[in-house]
Amino acid sequence: MSLQIYNTRTKQKEIFKSFREGKVSMYVCGPTVYDLLHIGNFRGVIFFNCVRHWLEQSGYEVTFALNYTDIDDKIIARAAEKNISPTELTAFYIQAYQDDLKLLNLKPHDINPKCTDHIDDIIALIIKLISDGFAYEVAGSVFFDVHKFKDYGKLSGKRLDDLAAGHRVDPHPDKRHPFDFVLWKPSKDQEPFWESPWGNGRPGWHIECSAMCHAHLGEHVDIHGGGIDLIFPHHENEIAQSECFTGKSFVSFWMHHNFIRFGEEKMSKSLGNVIKARDYMETYHPEVLKYLLLSVHYRSELSVETKQSYQCISALSRVYSALRDADSLANDNAVATDEFIGMIKSTYQLVKTSLNDDFNTPKAFAAIFECVRSFNHEVTSKKPKDVTLQGAARVFVTCIREIGGYFSLFQEEPVLFLKSLDQIMVKQLNLDVAYIEDLLVQRSHARANKDFKKADDIRDELLAKNVLVHDSRDGTTWEINKHFESSQ
Ligand SMILES: [Zn+2]
Repeated sequence: MSLQIYNTRTKQKEIFKSFREGKVSMYVCGPTVYDLLHIGNFRGVIFFNCVRHWLEQSGYEVTFALNYTDIDDKIIARAAEKNISPTELTAFYIQAYQDDLKLLNLKPHDINPKCTDHIDDIIALIIKLISDGFAYEVAGSVFFDVHKFKDYGKLSGKRLDDLAAGHRVDPHPDKRHPFDFVLWKPSKDQEPFWESPWGNGRPGWHIECSAMCHAHLGEHVDIHGGGIDLIFPHHENEIAQSECFTGKSFVSFWMHHNFIRFGEEKMSKSLGNVIKARDYMETYHPEVLKYLLLSVHYRSELSVETKQSYQCISALSRVYSALRDADSLANDNAVATDEFIGMIKSTYQLVKTSLNDDFNTPKAFAAIFECVRSFNHEVTSKKPKDVTLQGAARVFVTCIREIGGYFSLFQEEPVLFLKSLDQIMVKQLNLDVAYIEDLLVQRSHARANKDFKKADDIRDELLAKNVLVHDSRDGTTWEINKHFESSQ
């Protein structure tokens, strides 16, 4: 099965075909940089990173642009509050965003254009839209005339007549139609401005993405993405501007990811229930955030509660425990059984089918867990010296690392990563490491004195607190039981 992508415009899955042979251009609407980003803002970044990896895996050369909106009302207001210039404010939050991205260890975007670097492109676009009759100027403002674009509404399915009936829009004295949108607006006192044929002002929001797409990816984009809240009006307006400017089709595939909920509510700044990505990564781990955001299909809502994070930790610990075991068993010269090699091949195939089916990441993860289960079965049913087990360990590591790469997951060093999961859970469960270590010393004394009753009691006491004790020839170690059913 070849790659199929759900296209918001046609409301169905379509076989993916790029405009130019072997090359894909992707544009994703990025953040407005006036604050730290919450985990919902990262859903698109992490998902489209997977899209990009999979397209490359499928043989395409991908150019991925994600923009920064670095001038708008919120930026101007926040900068004024802080008594700094908008440029200082946005530089700070662009850096903060890039720091967060670095923690996630995703493939860097090829281009991160900024609106303020493209004012000349924006002005040129607006001049042509006016001269071709699609836009008009009134007292220093320029508006796009939605009635001049016959396909207006083709993305969102909204029709201007229905919009007029269903929405109460404050009539703007300068607009010909209430749904005409602003391309350029005059700057108020103290606001940043750029010179233009219509006086000093600044661009409206929608026009920047059309200008940056054209500047960096050309007149046609293969994949344009963003959150579902951008479908209307932002992306609808981008289509209107771009197609009126070029007279050609703007985007082949429109892809939109769904919201994140916190409990029952949508996560949003106005509801005050946001979790900053940085805080989440500090409490848990960037790997947990990536896993969490990909564990649900991108077009479904994702609910984030403590329980979900614990489930992700449990899932990651299963994969990494198997990787740790495999690392210690793998032998470069050993060969796995035909049956195991067949299982590995079918894992690749299942992941491929899942990702080709509109990036069904949960289904791909299920295939990875089947593979982990098969490997764990090899480990429990064979002796460490068994060469077929050593061969299985070798191909298992290669398979999980390679497939994990499509998601930017499973690349951590297993022993260290499992240790950091332990530390996370020690904090989450309010455990005291000194207390655990002290009990283990008492237990080893009891064992030395052949007081096995006491040793077992201590083991049970620790187990009740989700601490697992392992005895081996090299001594006793402990770890947190990460597969417990959390009641929190
Ligand atoms: Zn945009």
